[in-house]
Amino acid sequence: MKLTKRIGLIKPSPTLAITMKANALKAQGKDIIGFGAGEPDFDTPNHIKQAAVEAIEAGFTKYTPVGGVDELKDAIIQKLKSDNGLAYGRPQVAVSCGAKHTLYNLAQVLFEEGDEVLIPSPYWVSYPDIVVLTGAKPVILKTKAADGFKVLPEQLAGAITARTRALVLNSPSNPSGVAYSKAELEAFADILKDRDMLVLSDDIYEKILYDDFPFYNIASVSEAMKDKAVVVNGVSKTYAMTGWRIGYAAGPETVIDALTKLQSQNTSNPTSIAQKASVAALSGDQGCVADMVREFKRRRDAIVRGLNAIPGITCMNPQGAFYVFPDVSALYGRSFQGKRIAGSSEFSAYLLDEAGVAVVPGAEFGHDEHLRLSYATSMANIEKGVERIKEAVVKLD
Ligand code: PMP
Ligand code: GLU
Repeated sequence: MKLTKRIGLIKPSPTLAITMKANALKAQGKDIIGFGAGEPDFDTPNHIKQAAVEAIEAGFTKYTPVGGVDELKDAIIQKLKSDNGLAYGRPQVAVSCGAKHTLYNLAQVLFEEGDEVLIPSPYWVSYPDIVVLTGAKPVILKTKAADGFKVLPEQLAGAITARTRALVLNSPSNPSGVAYSKAELEAFADILKDRDMLVLSDDIYEKILYDDFPFYNIASVSEAMKDKAVVVNGVSKTYAMTGWRIGYAAGPETVIDALTKLQSQNTSNPTSIAQKASVAALSGDQGCVADMVREFKRRRDAIVRGLNAIPGITCMNPQGAFYVFPDVSALYGRSFQGKRIAGSSEFSAYLLDEAGVAVVPGAEFGHDEHLRLSYATSMANIEKGVERIKEAVVKLD
């Protein structure tokens, strides 16, 4: 069967693939600790589920406007105003089937062959492939652990060319957990405010921040950048709603119009019932978020401590999200039963086969020296998983 060249240019999402593999092994009865899945292990809070039940019972089960119902747009507008100090009207907001879909749609309407899109690394696995599918070129801004995995202003300035169409910023970051401060974003705004390019601000982990680290995005720190930024967010991570598939964009009306036109020719509206649930999530009591973040923090502290106690592993303490991104490169070159651990893929395969622990190779995020572990799993799993990694490391020759 002949397939397009386009589809041959991308690979299946590695984070989803590893999660599926770990689940398949579990289903076969294998004892696997999964640090692969980038999704909260908590159940969706009850008041949100209840809103969906009510929507079904009320017959709210038909097509809605393509970019989402006004009630949800208004809840998003209210959220952006009170949390981020950003004022948008309905024509500047569109709801899609998850933030991944939002980003995909944005890329399709903004980028094409000949364009360049700046993506800091380590990056979320989907950014480069979403850009590649448009014909544009992802330009990776490689950051260093020594710089806290942050892009330096001079690095950003030096990477911009006449072809640059956008910068993708994700803070707190998947996979490093690193978050940018207000001052750091202001420095980026100074560089970008007079350029003919956009910032796609992926704020999906906005609420998952620890130790009172304050959240800012580039639009909220600079008036000039508000018209040059598209804020992307969703309910998946904040409200443990990954399966509901609701994400959204807020930004210049021309971009939102184009996104909505594209969406009218592919998915049409996001699920009506999930939209009602998202209204309840955004407008309801936020206590559930605080509870989840408190638990994530306990787990972060435990996993960072546990990993740093293993000789050969160094783990930074992330400010947010629910991932750690330890450097394990000191173990490369060692072997098990004659098989050499050459990099993050071999090390991840070794951990899965020998220790029953699923992690994602750092190479998938652009940094082969590292592994990504999601700590959106129980404390018992974290303790057991870290212990297994330790035993696996000790077994290496
Ligand atoms: N951005 C980042 C950085 C993510 O980690 C995810 C998680 N899959 C998404 C966007 C998309 O989330 P969703 O499509 O579930 O809204
Ligand atoms: N964002 C999550 C992750 O990185 C979920 C899977 C995905 O969509 O990539 O693991």
